[in-house]
Amino acid sequence: MSDVIDTAQTQSELILEHQIRQATQKTSLPTRTHCIDCDEPIPLLRQQKVTGCQRCVACQTDFEKQNLRGV
Ligand SMILES: [Zn+2]
Repeated sequence: MSDVIDTAQTQSELILEHQIRQATQKTSLPTRTHCIDCDEPIPLLRQQKVTGCQRCVACQTDFEKQNLRGV
């Protein structure tokens, strides 16, 4: 009997884990190893600190400035 409960718990845990993973993936793009704009390698520390980081510091700064100007 307890086996059935264990299985049910494991399954719901797996489903929850899957849902969390999907939700996280939606909000953040995969972290790039090279800048999307200038193709320079992104420092490993930046890759680890900035989840879903797409640009090097210089290009990210430019990108944010352009965005601000656009608004
Ligand atoms: Zn760049």
